[in-house]
Amino acid sequence: MRKRSQFSKEVLNKMQVKLPALSVNEGTARAVVTAFVAQLDPGVTELADIKCAVSEAVTNCIVHGYRHSTGYIVITVSILEGRAVKIEIRDRGCGIPDVRQARQPLYTTDAAGERSGMGFTVMESFTDCLRVTSKEGAGTTVTMFKKLTDRDPL
Ligand code: ATP
Ligand code: MG
Repeated sequence: MRKRSQFSKEVLNKMQVKLPALSVNEGTARAVVTAFVAQLDPGVTELADIKCAVSEAVTNCIVHGYRHSTGYIVITVSILEGRAVKIEIRDRGCGIPDVRQARQPLYTTDAAGERSGMGFTVMESFTDCLRVTSKEGAGTTVTMFKKLTDRDPL
């Protein structure tokens, strides 16, 4: 884990998409983020890590954030100076009462027993920095940073 301050604040490129919180859009979100990050020519593993982290965050918006409502997910991706990527995934759903508790491995509020409580742990291990802010009744924002490996000049 790195600190937020270890990433440049200089944004070289940026995109934003707003999608209805439907499970069919989970793949869309993954594909859109991947297509945008491709401009940095990331490694296969780096791209797989990003896809996985985005899937977990978007799934959480759909199954938890909007479990009693409908709404949108806003995804913002920034390319930062120094081959780093910042991905912000925001919902305006129910929010998380205790973020620290929610981030614990194996913690889940899923009563049906279908979830394993590992989403935040996956996001944390597949990125370099994970920030989660949330307000009950107002929504949740997940921000992930990932530094890509340097490419040798040809
Ligand atoms: P898994 O991701 O392994 O399928 P999970 O979704 O329950 O299971 P996490 O992704 O780690 O596990 O999330 C932990 C808990 O945090 C969830 O059970 C839920 O209570 C809460 N949570 C996560 N994201 C959101 C969100 N966007 N809105 C509201 N609650 C959330
Ligand atoms: Mg989850």
